Amino acid sequence: MITALMAVGATTTNAQQRGSSTVSSDKKEGTFNYNDERFADLQMLRYKVEGFENLTLKQKTFIYYLQEAALYGRDILFDQNGKYNLRIRQMMENLYVNYKGNREDKDFKAFEEYLKRVWFSNGIHHHYGSEKFVPGFSQEWFIKQANCPDEIAEIIFNPEVMKKRVNLAEGEDLVKTSASNYYENVTQAEAEDYYGKLKANGDSLHPVMYGMNSRLVKTENGDFIEKKWTTNSLYGAALKKIVENLKLARPYAEDAQQQKVIDLLISYYETGDLSTFDQYSIAWVENTEPLVDFVNGFIECYGDPLGLKCSWESIVNFKDIDATKRTETLSANAQWFEDHSPVAPEFKKKKVKGITAKVIKAAILAGDLYPSTAIGINLPNSDWVRAEHGSKSVTIGNLTDAYNQAAKGNGMLQEFAYGPEEIALMEKYGDLTDDLHTDLHECLGHGSGRLLEGVDGDSLKAYGSTIEEARADLFALYYLADPKLVELGLVPHEDAYKASYIGQMQNGLLTQLVRINLGNNIEEAHMRNRALIAWWAYEHGKAENVMELVKRDGKTFVKINDYQKLRDLFGELLAEIQRVKSTGDFKSAQALVETYGVKIDPELHKEVLNRYAKLNIAPYKGFINPVYTAVRDAQGNITDVTISYTEGYAEQMLRYSKDYSTLPLINE
Ligand code: ZN
Repeated sequence: MITALMAVGATTTNAQQRGSSTVSSDKKEGTFNYNDERFADLQMLRYKVEGFENLTLKQKTFIYYLQEAALYGRDILFDQNGKYNLRIRQMMENLYVNYKGNREDKDFKAFEEYLKRVWFSNGIHHHYGSEKFVPGFSQEWFIKQANCPDEIAEIIFNPEVMKKRVNLAEGEDLVKTSASNYYENVTQAEAEDYYGKLKANGDSLHPVMYGMNSRLVKTENGDFIEKKWTTNSLYGAALKKIVENLKLARPYAEDAQQQKVIDLLISYYETGDLSTFDQYSIAWVENTEPLVDFVNGFIECYGDPLGLKCSWESIVNFKDIDATKRTETLSANAQWFEDHSPVAPEFKKKKVKGITAKVIKAAILAGDLYPSTAIGINLPNSDWVRAEHGSKSVTIGNLTDAYNQAAKGNGMLQEFAYGPEEIALMEKYGDLTDDLHTDLHECLGHGSGRLLEGVDGDSLKAYGSTIEEARADLFALYYLADPKLVELGLVPHEDAYKASYIGQMQNGLLTQLVRINLGNNIEEAHMRNRALIAWWAYEHGKAENVMELVKRDGKTFVKINDYQKLRDLFGELLAEIQRVKSTGDFKSAQALVETYGVKIDPELHKEVLNRYAKLNIAPYKGFINPVYTAVRDAQGNITDVTISYTEGYAEQMLRYSKDYSTLPLINE
């Protein structure tokens, strides 16, 4: 499953974990351009695959073939997203390349934007909202220019046809009303019945994921058949190219276990056998040693309204050694942090075990992870495989970094920071302390503390997750200011934590409100927790003027006067929140959350929304991939693999269509 996704309207990635909207850093990134072109509601970004050059030739070669295997799956997703997507894409690309008229014409400009959106969404529906795009060019113009037949024009221009890719509106036939290409001539009831029976007759302890790799079709005589996505059936041509490149990659795998993973994946692609897929998943999850790792397959099922059919995706990645070292250092010192926390002794763990979060760098994104992507992934998705064999949970560090770098200069920091001193601190230490905050939160915060004996873990009910997130955040905030972090070499300066305190307060009091519509309350647990912490600290620091809300030209700013006292307040709240959790004190949990974490001052909300709107920041973002080139000797052996970041968005999409298209325009 996707565990972390770039939040809509957020300005940075960390946004989705902590909602911080003003992150910056002192990393010198040379001339690397993280921001590329912008169109419609989209901002294209680039990510840097730092460290690729330092990999061994074997690892580079392995990545090279794996990214080829990744790119060959692109057409599968287009077809999964809608029956006519490949046909429409080809028609539009032909027009885009061969258009003889004025490319500045209103119709052509609107058409160009439409095509760029189709590329981005892998089809004619919005990647996030799933509603069909409304063309800004005229039907007559397009029919004439593209020589478009009426039945295709109907699909593009008639708003009632294929309205939504995934329809989740209760009471409607979700299968019939969804445009995604997972069922043919089948009603929702029929599909549910078909798979319900399969499940009932199957192994209940170790069920395979029925239906995940096929299209369910009702034939003319009323029979139901599954058209499997295998090398010999539907999508066969694309899957054959994927298998071919997996075979080329195999000799360069990092260990024997990884070769076994590849063998099982190939066998699964060839047979479509679902228990083979489970064996593959188990082998993959147990293969933890290699630096280079990859996902390639039918993985996530968000595109099927019934949640059975999996869309194709691929990511090739390698471990970020430095970032993983950071989390290892924290884990190794987990007991020290537990022992020194401001929490009452009876609520502490006698023996605590830190978690080492894996931080990876993406080398290529493909299928349903491209161009819009996740930054946190936890796989496999099979429940029993997870329960019996575990899962791999990763955060994709270089994508987070790209979001942060790209957000610089979007005006958010300048708009909401109190003054030059705050901006300077955020620019210098913002990224670093943001990463550390995540590490402390995930590796130590959630694992700290204990329930008193006899206390039910669910006693905080609906307030439980907000309290739990607040606990982990406060643990992080309290320790970010601890000299121990300097001692462990995790922060370069004892003032660095100030950046995260500014970020936390600004975000909790002001900037996270940009994600909420005027008039609504705060609903989401992470956002409630941030508001709770910020407003609680603000109120409890008032007597000693720890911080102020300053009004300037009708704008509100957060000014922190005493950082050490703010740390004490975080410590105090941490102790209280841990007591609430440890004793299952529902009434206190309710009072804390309802008083500080839910309601929004409408005047302040309106002000923040207006300030944000003026910055004109694109709500959705996606990535252009780097280009890998194999350098070969006279015998054809790969002697090096180079990476470049100069390919443009349209250029990349047209190249992918030219070099990696294998499927018929209509797949039946
Ligand atoms: Zn958390």
